[in-house]
Amino acid sequence: MTSENIQKTARKNIQKTARKYALQNAVQFEGSAQLKAVIGKVIAVFQKKGIHPKEIIPLVKKTVDDVNGLSKDQQRDELETLAPELLIKEKKVRDFSLSDLPFAEDKKVITRFPPEPNGYLHIGHAKAAIIDYEYAKKYDGSFILRFDDTNPEKDCVEFYDAQKQDLKWLGIKWDKSYHTSDNLKMHYELCLQLLKQSDAYVCLCDAENIKMGRQKKKNCPCRNLPSEIHVDQWEQLLSSTLDNGIVRLKADMKSLNTAMRDPTLFRIITTPHPLQKDRFHIWPTYDFAGAVEDSISGVTHPFRTKEYELRDEVYFYLLDKLGLRKPHLMEFARLSIEGMPVSKRKITPLIENGSVSGYDDVRLPTLRGLKKRGIVPKAIKKFVFSQGISKVESIVSFGLVEAENRKIIDPVSKRLFFVSDPVELIVSGIQKKSIVMPFHPTDKSLGTRSVLIDDSFYVPREDIASLNVGDTFRLKDLCNVKIQKKNDKIYGMYAGEELIAKSKKIQWTSKDALSIDVFKPEVLFKNDTFNENSLQVIHGNVEPAIKKLKDGEIVQFERFGFVRIEKENDVIKGFFTHR
Ligand code: ATP
Ligand code: MG
Repeated sequence: MTSENIQKTARKNIQKTARKYALQNAVQFEGSAQLKAVIGKVIAVFQKKGIHPKEIIPLVKKTVDDVNGLSKDQQRDELETLAPELLIKEKKVRDFSLSDLPFAEDKKVITRFPPEPNGYLHIGHAKAAIIDYEYAKKYDGSFILRFDDTNPEKDCVEFYDAQKQDLKWLGIKWDKSYHTSDNLKMHYELCLQLLKQSDAYVCLCDAENIKMGRQKKKNCPCRNLPSEIHVDQWEQLLSSTLDNGIVRLKADMKSLNTAMRDPTLFRIITTPHPLQKDRFHIWPTYDFAGAVEDSISGVTHPFRTKEYELRDEVYFYLLDKLGLRKPHLMEFARLSIEGMPVSKRKITPLIENGSVSGYDDVRLPTLRGLKKRGIVPKAIKKFVFSQGISKVESIVSFGLVEAENRKIIDPVSKRLFFVSDPVELIVSGIQKKSIVMPFHPTDKSLGTRSVLIDDSFYVPREDIASLNVGDTFRLKDLCNVKIQKKNDKIYGMYAGEELIAKSKKIQWTSKDALSIDVFKPEVLFKNDTFNENSLQVIHGNVEPAIKKLKDGEIVQFERFGFVRIEKENDVIKGFFTHR
């Protein structure tokens, strides 16, 4: 070879490598490749071969400009053909190891997750449960699942099991589980102790006066009666001789902390309890039950969300008066997601008024909704870890959950062609045949499907609309087609199989495609108002190979996004996971 030829080959190789890396960089950064990043990679390859950066840089610059001129879809498609291995995002390992807990000793740390069985768990609960569970694991300690079921008006028998199932799905295992309502007798004894000590009292005032007293920092007349009277009234409350009254902690009515102004410890609730039925009608509040249970069950590091901050003083004051051990209370920020209701109080009304279809509606951040949509447990865990356990309240984008999920499902999801809003395409001159296509560009273990090729296809209306008679496009992974006529059908001519740079690549299905509806969730709230268009139904055709997939399998519909497939009595539905 002459030296001129050697130079030509080297230039070609540099351009080819630059194109690969430019496409990869563009796909990673919203369609715009960064020159510096690409130059670095190309130089690293060719400097070793004795080529000076001065010769490399102009070639890379030209290539980056070219690539940045393509649409995002074109970039992704070309990269998929040129170097599919680069499509899998480079891993950025962000090491999140749980920071140390104060006063923590190996094998002695005990944590707990205390859900109230009054609804299905959501991603905020997952955050709490994962942190509690992972800390117990970190110290080789133990983890308790405690049902804080002390409000019979809200608690419901179906939720105990449902919450357990959802935690199991997340991969959380508890060493012990119990119900706070099983300990009510013990709570009553502790209450009696406080009354006898004059550290609590029965208050017979009406709700309005109690509220006023708290606002005006004024003691009520009940507060200073002798303890014997309060003990007596407590017994009357228990035996229902007295049908009105609450028990309050004698804390500090003058405190600047409103939570300390003699908080309620017990109140009457006559609704039968889902498990205890009508055995009890006096129930502890969260202030009482939460502190007492944490202490007595041996929890060393209870985590609470920051909203309880003001109540921490009550927690310690109460345990002090009871002479009970004080755990190391830990605090973290409540999880909030843009446009999504991460709270049972906000989710329940949406279900009750029919705004969403149920607890597993794909628009909801409930664990069941996320599962139905195709978010996998590992992604939730990674997301929680990536957020850390800061106390700073912030509203995050659901895109962060999607990004974690994509990293996990992308390498293991089968690829299929889905054609939304299909239009028929007739191609003349194409050879009838059966072709074999891999289910995944790199992972051969995912297998193949064979596709019958005839002269008629379906293609997405939106893609074809952007092309004109005379244009040539590519039926992805098959051949080029030159458009000859467009009316209610599209007519084209076979135009070879050579890749044509910059030609649009379109996914397609053959005539024997199946029809499918894909449900695509959007945010439920926009500027705090309900988004009426939060669920789109996209109708389309999918390859018959979908019949071979398992119910619940997550696949990628190429150039469309990841979709979780559900099959029920011959009806196949899809739920859009994310791009
Ligand atoms: P909601 O507002 O959804 O009704 P809750 O606090 O009443 O929530 P619980 O069942 O009492 O629900 O919560 C159990 C645990 O989960 C508590 O420790 C609570 O702090 C935690 N938790 C609930 N929602 C979130 C959230 N959005 N982010 C983080 N932790 C949460
Ligand atoms: Mg609660």
